Amino acid sequence: MGLEVKKMAEALKAGATMLNEACPVCSSPLFKMPSDEIYCLKCNRKVILVKTEEEALKVSKPATLNLLEETILGKLQQLQQKIRFEENPEILQTYLNLTLNYLEALEKIRKITKK
Ligand SMILES: [Zn+2]
Repeated sequence: MGLEVKKMAEALKAGATMLNEACPVCSSPLFKMPSDEIYCLKCNRKVILVKTEEEALKVSKPATLNLLEETILGKLQQLQQKIRFEENPEILQTYLNLTLNYLEALEKIRKITKK
């Protein structure tokens, strides 16, 4: 058992938790100490995890688009009901135009999220 493993075991015993993030220097797992500080036990140093704005966007973007996709699908369903019972050709045309717009939006969302 290496020194590193021993240190990890000790840290866990002291109440530290192992994180999914790896040390940027040696790529061994990082530990969050009870003091909320993050350490690499192998390098024996404190690590500050910085989430860049771009990374934060990467996480939130698909969620937003998925919600939008769901919303649009809901709207399409409502439109389908309206089209079914509408007899006025002018109103029908409006509904159909809207349907086409929603479908185009769906296509774009799916292209971005690559579904
Ligand atoms: Zn390290």
